[in-house]
Amino acid sequence: MTDKELYEKLKYGKKNVYKELSSEETKEMLSLADKYREFLDKGKTERECVAEAIKLAKENGFVPFEEKSELKAGDRIYFINRDKNIMLVVVGTEDIEKGLNIVGAHIDSPRLDLKQNPLYESDGMALFKTHYYGGIKKYQWTAIPLAIHGVICKKNGEKISVCIGEKDDDPVFTVTDLLPHLAKEQMSKSMLEGIEGEALNILVGGIGAGSDEISERVKFNILNILSIAYDITEEDFLSAELEVVPAFKARNVGLDNAYVGAYGQDDRVCAYTALKSIFDIETPERTAICLLVDKEEIGSVGNTGMLSRFFEMAVAELIAKLKGSCDMVTYNRTISASACLSSDVGAAFDPNYPSVSEKNNNAFAGNGLVLMKYTGARGKSEASDASAEFVSEIKTILDNNGIIWQTSELGKVDQGGGGTIAMYVGNLNMDVIDCGVPVLSMHSPFEITAKGDIYMAYKAYKAFYKDR
Ligand code: MN
Ligand code: MN
Repeated sequence: MTDKELYEKLKYGKKNVYKELSSEETKEMLSLADKYREFLDKGKTERECVAEAIKLAKENGFVPFEEKSELKAGDRIYFINRDKNIMLVVVGTEDIEKGLNIVGAHIDSPRLDLKQNPLYESDGMALFKTHYYGGIKKYQWTAIPLAIHGVICKKNGEKISVCIGEKDDDPVFTVTDLLPHLAKEQMSKSMLEGIEGEALNILVGGIGAGSDEISERVKFNILNILSIAYDITEEDFLSAELEVVPAFKARNVGLDNAYVGAYGQDDRVCAYTALKSIFDIETPERTAICLLVDKEEIGSVGNTGMLSRFFEMAVAELIAKLKGSCDMVTYNRTISASACLSSDVGAAFDPNYPSVSEKNNNAFAGNGLVLMKYTGARGKSEASDASAEFVSEIKTILDNNGIIWQTSELGKVDQGGGGTIAMYVGNLNMDVIDCGVPVLSMHSPFEITAKGDIYMAYKAYKAFYKDR
C-alpha cells in the first residue's frame, strides 16, 4: 500500500451524491424532486400540508385510526390532530414494546400572519396588518408577490377555506418598500431595524366605493368584496387564521436544474421525504411512524407543536388497540425502546458567506443527507445531544444502504445557533438525532435545496424504517 492509499483509507471525507448515482437512481431522484415540487405548491401552510398528506396517505392504503376495530402487522393507519398534525403508522411484525421507529418533521414555516383585526385604510389605500411568525429577515418579505391562505370560522359554525394569489388570474398582495431615492435614512439602519414589524402591512386595495358620507371608502369596498365572496363581515377576521406566504411556485434552479427553489422547504423537504418513505415501505419489524407537527418555528409549543401530548396520546391509543389496553408500564417500555429521526433541515455552506461556517463541520448542498448530532446555541444550550452509540447505529444503517450522508453543526461555535423538535422528543426518553436536508437561504421566501440531498433523505428514512 502506498502512503497515498493508506491516507485515503485512514481519513474521513465527504462524498458528492451526483458522483455516486447510477443513471437509474438519477432518474428516480429527478422524478422525486418533481413530485416534491408539486407537494410544495399544494402545501404552503400546516393545514394544507395535512390535507395533502391525508390525500396521499389514502392513495397509499392508509385509513383513519378510528375506522379500524382491531390492528395487525401491515395495517396502515393515521391520526389527525386539529387539522395541523398527522401521525401515520405502519404496524410492524414485532411486539410494539420492542419500540417504534419514528421519523418526525415539522410542517409550519416562517410567514406573515394576519393580525386578528387586520383591515385598515390609510391615504386612499386598504392594507392588512400582519404579525410575523417564526424567525424571518423582515426585509426579505417586502416587494415580492404574496398570497393569502387559511381559514375563517364564522359565527354560524361554518369554516371557510381561503386561498388567494395562487391561480394565474388571481390578484396577489405585497408589502411595499421605500424607493432607494428616499431611503437614505432607512439604508443607514441595521438590517434588523431597516424594516419594522409594524411596517409589514400588505396592500389589499385602492378603489373607493359608496357615497361621500363614508369616511373610509376603500375599506368599505374591500369589506363589500369580501362579503360577496365569502359572506363575512369584518368581525369574522377575529376568528380566522390567515397566513401570508410567497405567491410564487416551486421551481428548478440552475442551468443544470440541480436545485429546488421554493418557499417553505424548512421543513417540508423532510416532511415530504418522510411521508414518501413511509408510503413506500413494506411491513417493517418495528412499527413505523411518520409524525408531522406544527409550531416548530415558534418553539414547538401549544396543542399542535411537539410539546403537545398528541403524540403520546396517539401512541397510547395504538397500544390499546393492539393489546386491548394500555398501562403505564407498556407505554413506558414502548417509548424507551423507540428511536426517532428528527428530520429537519441543516444550514448548507454558502460561498457568499463563508465566514459564518467552519468547513470541517458544515453541511454542503449535494453531499447528501445531513446528520446533526447536536444543534443548540451558546455552548450547546437547548441541544438534544445524540449519544455516540445511537450515532453509530444510524451510521451503520446509512452505510449498509448506500446512502450518501454528511455531518454538520449549525455554523461556527459563536455564530448563533438554533433548535429543532429533537430536544422534546428526547425528553420523552428515547434516542433521537437530527437529520435532514441542507438548505441555502433558510427561512427566506425562496429557500434552496439540492435534489441529490432530497433523494438521499428519502432513501435514508426508508432504510431507517426497514433496518432499525
Ligand atoms: Mn426546521
Ligand atoms: Mn426553521
